[in-house]
Amino acid sequence: PDVNPLYDHLFGRHAGSDVTFLHLPDEALSYSAFLARAAGFAHALSRLGLAPGDRVAVQLDKSAGMLAVYAACVQAGLVFLPLNTAYTPAEVDYFLGDSGARLFLTPTRAAGELGTLAARHGAAHGTLDSDGGGSLGDLARSQPRTFPTVPRARDDLAAILYTSGTTGRSKGAMLSQQNLLSNAETLAGLWRFSASDVLLHALPLFHTHGLFVATNVTLRAGGAMVLLPKFDLDALLGWMPRATALMGVPTFYTRLLADERFTAERASGMRLFVSGSAPLLAETHRAFEARTGHRILERYGMTETNMSCSNPYDGERRPGTVGPPLPGVEARVCDEAGTELARGETGVLEVRGPNVFRGYWQMPEKTAAELRPDGWFITGDLATMSDDGYVTIVGRAKDLVISGGLNVYPKEVEEALDALPGVGESAVIGVPHPDLGEAVVAVIAHGPGPAPDADALADALAGRLARFKQPRRYLFVEALPRNTMGKVQKAALRAEHAGLFA
Ligand code: ATP
Ligand code: MG
Repeated sequence: PDVNPLYDHLFGRHAGSDVTFLHLPDEALSYSAFLARAAGFAHALSRLGLAPGDRVAVQLDKSAGMLAVYAACVQAGLVFLPLNTAYTPAEVDYFLGDSGARLFLTPTRAAGELGTLAARHGAAHGTLDSDGGGSLGDLARSQPRTFPTVPRARDDLAAILYTSGTTGRSKGAMLSQQNLLSNAETLAGLWRFSASDVLLHALPLFHTHGLFVATNVTLRAGGAMVLLPKFDLDALLGWMPRATALMGVPTFYTRLLADERFTAERASGMRLFVSGSAPLLAETHRAFEARTGHRILERYGMTETNMSCSNPYDGERRPGTVGPPLPGVEARVCDEAGTELARGETGVLEVRGPNVFRGYWQMPEKTAAELRPDGWFITGDLATMSDDGYVTIVGRAKDLVISGGLNVYPKEVEEALDALPGVGESAVIGVPHPDLGEAVVAVIAHGPGPAPDADALADALAGRLARFKQPRRYLFVEALPRNTMGKVQKAALRAEHAGLFA
């Protein structure tokens, strides 16, 4: 029987292996060296008085050390709680208070302000820098290189991961060992990951995409990752001939396509490009295939559910869709009451399976409102399902515009706008309006070129969209506001333009 299923199946199975796990800018780290480092951290964390179930909050730069702390938490039965490195101390204040973390790890350079913050919340504070230095790094180095794995059950918490805060205040998603392990096993199998894979890792480590999808899948398969500190085109293109796979957000792919050094030849050793975290335009999918011959594999997931849907490895990768639900995961499109709709109709996507989280940390009402007693999780995303089970994400329920009592799906209007000359991309939002309730407003990003003419856009749409779907106002910006995961910040746009019709 498994002592600690997540540790045993992702980490422990590589004990003694001299195979490379991480390619770092100036060294290659084998699995055994990585596990020894993790064991040192596990001892250090125990010496600091942490006990199984305690939460370890980290706001660390992306590094091998941060991954070793993740491994150490799993091995010591602690709950890993990574925070976005972009969060300001005022934001961190909320996360420390909400999570009740017992320890907060930061880089040395931020120790002053964040150490004070930790103390205010009764949490210990430690430091870890990307070069391995800092108080926790120093303590870990003097510790034994093996650690007795702490027993855990599949239902025990492995991590609390806060949602990205795109639609409101971030919520802490409680993720069990089973949530993470089942998803890693399913994805590694579905996407055919093996020990010969070398994954280009340019995503952050504080988000489900870079931490659980990319890292856990690689660990499960025993492959290697090129751990790039951030998305950097030069580094990515430089490593690509030695790699086999890339996982990215859609902006990775548009930026690769914008660089002429990105050619079919450079991508010829790659076997898989995966996209997720935000919608990939069908147009990007097609341009990518035309350039490289590769069809990007788009998948869909959330902090709360890990991954739920994926286009197939062998079957048809359908542009604009996120594919069918994963093996072992169920998905259905429902009305508000949870009654399943006919195929092709738009409704709220619900998912159920071993991937679905255990609820929101200290938010029982919110958990009850989104997690049905029979296990279905209400994602808050609007979707359709085709007759053959492919899911298309239409947008978020919170972004739906109700104008004059009629539903306007922003994506439909955005797709019509994006096809017009001069429009780089667009975001359609609902803005309070005295007569209509909400008015449709289009925010148009035109890149470095001149802004297109609003009347010309309005004329072009007049023939294509019903009157109630046509924007009442066009606003022009150079670029849409996005977070680090490439998600358009529509809540911020709505707030900024709330007074437009006042
Ligand atoms: P919050 O829940 O705090 O508002 P968030 O939902 O953006 O933030 P995440 O869990 O990081 O936080 O993101 C999950 C969301 O990302 C999904 O609900 C969905 O809206 C979007 N998403 C993920 N993958 C895709 C995809 N392939 N296509 C379209 N949207 C996607
Ligand atoms: Mg969400």
